[in-house]
Amino acid sequence: MKIMIIGAGIGGLTTALALHKAGHQVEVFEQVPEIKALGVGINLLPHAVGVLSSFGLAPELARVAIEAQEYVFMNRHGQEILADARGSTAGYAFPQYSIHRGDLQMILLAAAQQALGAEQIRVGHKLASFTQDERGVDALFTDRAGNERGRFHADIMIASDGIHSVVRSHYYPDEGMPLWNGTIMWRGTTVGKPFLTGGSVVKAGWTSQKFIVYPISRQHADRGEALINWIADLHFDNTNLMEREDWNRPGKIEDFLPAFESWKFPWLDVPEVIRNAQSVFEFPMVDRDPVAQWSFGRVVLLGDAAHPMYPISSNGATQAIIDAQAITESLASIADPVAALKDFQDKRLPVASQIVRMNRQEGPDVILDIVNERAPDGFKHIDDVIAREELLSIVGGYKKAAGHQQRSAA
Ligand SMILES: Cc1cc2nc3c(=O)[nH]c(=O)nc-3n(C[C@H](O)[C@H](O)[C@H](O)COP(=O)(O)OP(=O)(O)OC[C@H]3O[C@@H](n4cnc5c(N)ncnc54)[C@H](O)[C@@H]3O)c2cc1C
Repeated sequence: MKIMIIGAGIGGLTTALALHKAGHQVEVFEQVPEIKALGVGINLLPHAVGVLSSFGLAPELARVAIEAQEYVFMNRHGQEILADARGSTAGYAFPQYSIHRGDLQMILLAAAQQALGAEQIRVGHKLASFTQDERGVDALFTDRAGNERGRFHADIMIASDGIHSVVRSHYYPDEGMPLWNGTIMWRGTTVGKPFLTGGSVVKAGWTSQKFIVYPISRQHADRGEALINWIADLHFDNTNLMEREDWNRPGKIEDFLPAFESWKFPWLDVPEVIRNAQSVFEFPMVDRDPVAQWSFGRVVLLGDAAHPMYPISSNGATQAIIDAQAITESLASIADPVAALKDFQDKRLPVASQIVRMNRQEGPDVILDIVNERAPDGFKHIDDVIAREELLSIVGGYKKAAGHQQRSAA
């Protein structure tokens, strides 16, 4: 089948690799004139690593990324609430990786260029409009200035064009801007010393003020350093998004450092990490309401275009990668493309929508709020504040919904 993929982000490139491997003729169209390694750190959950490993990418991921050993929930004083084991030693079939988003995109791009042929990934091609009939989809592409770059035809079109998807807005014209929950995330990377296990993902604080931190570079670790990825969250009452969010908008440390000035943990000096940042970006925590339909005849939404969600608990990239596998399976098992795209939608939409909703309730980070409410000044023993069974049931419930619980129950 001839397949057009819109967007060469994590979802689009993974889908291209999966469909090419299944024998389809795939072409990817990306609006930017050059794909650059943008973003900061993300986590890839084990089932997503499993998908990428099936393309032979396991050695490359291991060479670049840090294997996450544990998710540690802490209070604002740096006291441990729960350490949830991750990675192969914790009973998962595949490791979980903390990785720079740009590094991951470059790994996927190189693999896709090699598999499909570099000319099959067309940069500087922004989808401008499209039509479909029973023979397929016709699409018009322009550059970002609006000059025509060409018209292309395919049997189906997969729209992995992100949270501002033009394909989604075609089918949902009244949706408007993404929804903001009032939290600003300042994100950065800092070269520092390894902390805790050297592969710990730590979330400290509570909903309104949180510091998330984890190392993302194998190369730094190999020379005894840590490339520390961090996110400082602060919540504001305003939820009116004034301008379109941008992953690359620079942030100012004076806007949030004062709130974290006293956060000096035995294992990490938070204000020092913030001060030593290589660069700082600010991003509002946005998502969109789940929709009832992703598949429209021969056109389908995938990844953030289908289910934009708060970047909580490592599901943004992971769910896009799981989509790639699912759509490939649907197209392999059902000959009629329209029915296959609907099958993909029917299988994935309820799962992804539930994660969107759970992330609005802070996902497993709700633990932080419970502990902060019950023991704002810290605790001697966490058992005095919350039962371990309750903690495990909250974390286990989220993992089950997101599809990555261990083979041996959490
Ligand atoms: C520059 C950038 C930086 C990011 N940094 C982070 C980060 O630091 N942390 C984090 O958690 N998440 C980050 N994300 C989001 C994260 O990549 C996604 O949530 C997740 O990986 C799902 O991927 P996706 O492929 O669905 O969407 P995305 O990764 O957003 O990819 C969408 C792609 O579609 C392209 N596109 C959009 N419109 C068109 C069009 N009309 N025609 C052709 N192409 C189009 C975009 O340029 C982009 O390359 C970033 C996204 C981007 C684009």
